[in-house]
Amino acid sequence: MTGLRQVTGTAGVLLAPNPGPMTLEGTNTWVLRAPGEDSCVVVDPGPLDEGHLADVAAAGPVAVVLLTHGHADHSAGARRLAELTGAPVRALDSAHRLGEQGLGEGDVVAAAGLELRVLATPGHSADSLSFVLGGQHGGDAAVLTGDTILGRGTSVVVHPDGLLGDYLDSLRRLRELGELIVLPGHGPELPNAGVVAEHYLHHRQARLEQVREALAAGASTPEQVVASVYADVDRSLWPAALLSVRAQLAYLTHQRSGT
Ligand SMILES: [Zn+2]
Repeated sequence: MTGLRQVTGTAGVLLAPNPGPMTLEGTNTWVLRAPGEDSCVVVDPGPLDEGHLADVAAAGPVAVVLLTHGHADHSAGARRLAELTGAPVRALDSAHRLGEQGLGEGDVVAAAGLELRVLATPGHSADSLSFVLGGQHGGDAAVLTGDTILGRGTSVVVHPDGLLGDYLDSLRRLRELGELIVLPGHGPELPNAGVVAEHYLHHRQARLEQVREALAAGASTPEQVVASVYADVDRSLWPAALLSVRAQLAYLTHQRSGT
């Protein structure tokens, strides 16, 4: 009954039934365990969907639940999963925690025979984290990126919570990881974190240049910038593009004033 798909020696994924323009095929709920271990670590329970959460619980016992960030498509099922499994929920934002322990830069989560190293990667949201999974126990080294890097397309800087300057810094950090497999919050896994982070950085710089050009050509509202810069993008994504444009305008203003 569970549709757990094993992606590496230590990481499997259960796809939540919430497909959409922002969530691609749905949210990826990651189930991590060393070979031979009973218990598992769950990253991002996904939405509050009883069928999905029952599948996640059945993949347990669950030692701990981690959140890449607090957006509802990743976190809304966390409380119910904690009820089903008794597992604590750890997140950077205290509003999303269940239990005593927080989660943040430099933390190492040791559970299910694995060690996960926590990187603060703000930008998509202020509370975004990535988790580096070492290559121990025959598993492939990988990084769980939440919505900071997606399996297809590019991500959104959710202004004003997310800041473009932070996002560019986070992408530079992820680029340094090199040949780690990317296990994203939505979409398929990718073979090389360094390559995809570099691609994202190029894309962001290109969009920034287009925004500068649109402003120079007379666009005076964020909506006008979207219509000019995102003309090549499906209109269902324009509300998301508007958030990214607001983030880009804030970034450019901040650069100009040097504050
Ligand atoms: Zn998100």
